[in-house]
Amino acid sequence: MSMHTPVLDPVVTAPYGFRSDSGQKTFHNGINFISRSGDTRVFSIARGRVIQDIDQCTPVMSHVQRSPWSGNVVAIEHEIDERRYYALYIHLLSTDIPDNLTVQPGFELGRYAEQSAGMVGPHLHLTILNEQGDVIDPTPLLVKSGIPAHPAVA
Ligand SMILES: [Zn+2]
Repeated sequence: MSMHTPVLDPVVTAPYGFRSDSGQKTFHNGINFISRSGDTRVFSIARGRVIQDIDQCTPVMSHVQRSPWSGNVVAIEHEIDERRYYALYIHLLSTDIPDNLTVQPGFELGRYAEQSAGMVGPHLHLTILNEQGDVIDPTPLLVKSGIPAHPAVA
């Protein structure tokens, strides 16, 4: 299995799962990454196919948060270990990638936005859905691929 980190020299700043936001328990449906070097480029984690028209992709569309702070989203249908997944790369500056483009691991998808309106700083948010369109915990998939998916210990 050939895979690539979603950013260079990645650091996980927020893991998948429940977290407390100012006393409120909320569910974080993906993993937040930044690059240790400050490089904001975002890369495809695996071979896949770009789904530019996410409104036409039922498994994906219901999970794309349309709030202003989401920025742009690139959706990619990945095949990893002969299973199909949908990855949402969220908080990008732009999404001018051709629909249906086949991409290899490490293909540059764009950059994550350097401005963010949320409480957390600029980052890539990566959500992964299974073939049925259910959000899954990406941690085992990423760790198996050598991609760090746990919070960095300072
Ligand atoms: Zn996030």
